[in-house]
Amino acid sequence: MTLTSAATAAYLVSSILFIVSLAGLSRHETAKRGLFAGVTGMVIAVTATVVHVVAGEPGTAATALLFVAVTVGAVVGLSRARRVQMTEIPELIALLHSFVGLAAVLVGWNGYLDAPYSGGALANIHHAEVFIGVFIGGVTLTGSIVAFLKLSARINSKPLELSGKNAINIGALILFGVLTSAFVVHPHLWQMFAVTAIALALGWHLVASIGGGDMPVVVSMLNSYSGWAAAASGFLLGNDLLIVTGALVGSSGAYLSFIMCRAMNRSFLSVIAGGFGAPRASSDDDDQLGEYKEASVGETAQLLASASSVVITPGYGMAVAQAQYPVAELTRVLREHGVNVRFGIHPVAGRLPGHMNVLLAEAKVPYDIVLEMDEVNDDLPQTDVVLVIGANDTVNPAATEDPGSPIAGMPVLRVWESADVIVFKRSMAVGYAGVQNPLFFKDNTQMLFGDAKERVEDILQAFREQPSLSNNSAPALS
Ligand code: NDP
Repeated sequence: MTLTSAATAAYLVSSILFIVSLAGLSRHETAKRGLFAGVTGMVIAVTATVVHVVAGEPGTAATALLFVAVTVGAVVGLSRARRVQMTEIPELIALLHSFVGLAAVLVGWNGYLDAPYSGGALANIHHAEVFIGVFIGGVTLTGSIVAFLKLSARINSKPLELSGKNAINIGALILFGVLTSAFVVHPHLWQMFAVTAIALALGWHLVASIGGGDMPVVVSMLNSYSGWAAAASGFLLGNDLLIVTGALVGSSGAYLSFIMCRAMNRSFLSVIAGGFGAPRASSDDDDQLGEYKEASVGETAQLLASASSVVITPGYGMAVAQAQYPVAELTRVLREHGVNVRFGIHPVAGRLPGHMNVLLAEAKVPYDIVLEMDEVNDDLPQTDVVLVIGANDTVNPAATEDPGSPIAGMPVLRVWESADVIVFKRSMAVGYAGVQNPLFFKDNTQMLFGDAKERVEDILQAFREQPSLSNNSAPALS
C-alpha cells in the first residue's frame, strides 16, 4: 500500500467516525460515546496528515512549519481548554469558528498567489473555488468575532439597525456575484482585495443586525458557515477529508439552525439574512412594569413544603451560579417526600444548544424528569409551584403578549399559568435579549433575590433546620 492510499484509507475511517459521532451526539445516553468517536476520528485524521506530509517531503521547510503550527496550536488550545469556564464555552466556540474563517481566507489567498493552472476550464474552476472560499471564510471570520463579542457581553446584544440594512446585504451579495463572474474569467489582485473587504464587512453587518434573542440560530449558522468554509478549503487543497468533514459540519449546522428557527417560530431566511423583514423592536427598554413582590427563603421553603407538584425551569443564571448541584439535591429531597418534580427546558435556555441538559446531567438529575418545553407547557396550569432558576427571556410572556417585542413570536415556558412562581435572580435586570419581563410583576410571582446557588442552598438548609417544614401540615413533605 502506498503512503497516499494509506492516508486515504485513514481519512475514510475518520469520516465514518465523524458520522458515528454526530449520530451519538443526538441523544443524552449516547453523547459520551459520540464524543469519543469524534475525538478518535480527529486523532486519526491529524496523524495521517502529519505522517503523509512528513514522509512525502522529509526535512523540508513545510515539515518544520507543520510541527511548529501543530505544537503552538496544541499548547494554546490545551491551556485555554483547561481554564475555560462552562459559561464561556459558547463564546469560545464562536471564536474557534472565526479561526476556521480566517484559515479559509488564507487558504483562498494562497490559492490565488500560488495558482497551479495558467488557463482553461480547470483554471476557471480553481478561480471560482478561490473566490467563494475567501468570501465564505471572510463572512465567517467577522460574523464569528461579532458573535464572540455579543456572547461575552463585550458589546451590547441589541440589534444594529442601520437604515437600509437589507439593501446593504443584498447589494453586497449582488456585488459578490458580479465580481465572481469577472474573476473566474480574468482574475486580478484588486478583485481579491474587494471580495475580502466585502465578505468581512458583510459578516460583521449580518451578525451585528441580529438581536440577542436570535443569537442561538446565528451561532449554529456560523457553525454551518465554518463547515462550508472548511469544505471550500478542502477543494483548494485537494483534501477529501476536509471536504467531507466540512460538508458534515456545514449541513448539520444548517439543519440545527433550521430546527432552532422552527422551535423559536422564526423565519430561517430572515435570520440568515441578518433579520431581513423582522419588525423593528418597540419595547426594548428595561423600565419596570409595575410593583413586584419579594419572597424570603423561609416563605419559599414553606411553599415547596406544601406543594405536590413542582416544575423547575432553569436558564443561563443557573449556569453562571453553578447552581445545578444544589438544585439536583433539592429535587432529590422533594422527590423523596413524594413531590412530583420535573424540569422544563426551553430549546434556547442558556447560551448553547443543550446547555441546561448538560448541566443537569452533570449533577445527575434523572433524564426522565427533564422534559422539553412542549412536553411541560400543557401541565403548567395544574402545577403548584414553578421555580425559575436564573431564566429570563425563556419565561417572558412579552413573547406571546407584545407583538412589538424583540422576542415576539418566540414560544416560551408559560410558567405564569401555574399557581405560584418563584423567580431566582440577583436583581430586576433584563435578560439576554434586553427586554423587561412582565412575569416578574404578575400577581402569582415572587422574586427571591440573590445568587441562585446560595439561595437554593439556603432553602435546603431551611429544610434541615426546621423539621416542621417536612413534618407539618404540608401533605407532600410529611
Ligand atoms: P437570560 O440570559 O435571558 O437571563 C438569565 C438571567 O439569569 C438574567 O436575567 C440574570 O439576572 C440571571 N442570573 C445571572 N447570574 C445569576 C446568578 N448567579 N444567580 C441568579 N440569577 C442569575 O436566560 P435564558 O436562559 O432564559 O435565555 C437565554 C437567552 O440567551 C435567550 O435570549 C437566547 O435566545 C439567548 N441565547 C441562547 C443561546 C443558546 O444556544 N441557548 C445562544 C445565544 C444566545 P440578574 O443579573 O438579575 O441575576
